[in-house]
Amino acid sequence: MYYPVNEIFQSIQGEGYYTGTPSIFIRLQGCPVHCNWCDTKYTWICSDKDRTSVEEVINKNQISKKWSFIYIKDILKIFKKWTAKHVVITGGEPCLYDLVNLTTKLEKSGYHCQVETSGIKNIKCSLNTWITISPKKNKRPTHESIIRSNEIKFPILKKEDILYIYDILSNIKDNKKRIICLQPVNQNKEALSICIDLCTKKNWRLSIQLHKYLKIE
Ligand code: SF4
Repeated sequence: MYYPVNEIFQSIQGEGYYTGTPSIFIRLQGCPVHCNWCDTKYTWICSDKDRTSVEEVINKNQISKKWSFIYIKDILKIFKKWTAKHVVITGGEPCLYDLVNLTTKLEKSGYHCQVETSGIKNIKCSLNTWITISPKKNKRPTHESIIRSNEIKFPILKKEDILYIYDILSNIKDNKKRIICLQPVNQNKEALSICIDLCTKKNWRLSIQLHKYLKIE
């Protein structure tokens, strides 16, 4: 089985619960959500004209729309040059794809998987995978995605965004323990202040996109 991969690299997880964890990132191509402030717009369209070789994707040194199908067995071979055991499957929008085979095979090979998704489709992955939902206003996450999540990370730009947090949280009726994070969009200072204020009041976590402050990928 193969997946359309835009980038694959090792770095430090800069967001949410696993902030600071050395991680291998698999960035899948394609996202229909189209948030205005998206910082990975180059992943939105999965067009044949941008399809390239696996080698070109592995050796990318700058962002681009180029992507390639990569088989799971080849993903595992690529991983051998890195030390991280935490794998972040991100995008684009990874829940467009059935991730059961990928996450199961990675786990069998000793990796722990995390999927970062907007949750607009129900998530297909192994039971052990850590699911981080980041609900977007453009397209609401499905109820099943929210219920499956281990962590909900809300992007915040302005005060009005707080209403959406309560709207999403008020529809969760189970007792599952979930991490709630607030993340200011693109290091916006006003948004950061709103997040710090609300995190402190509610005892939620602040996610500051550490990689952007460190100026790493
Ligand atoms: S869901 Fe994520 S990848 Fe898709 S447009 Fe929004 S921020 Fe970008």
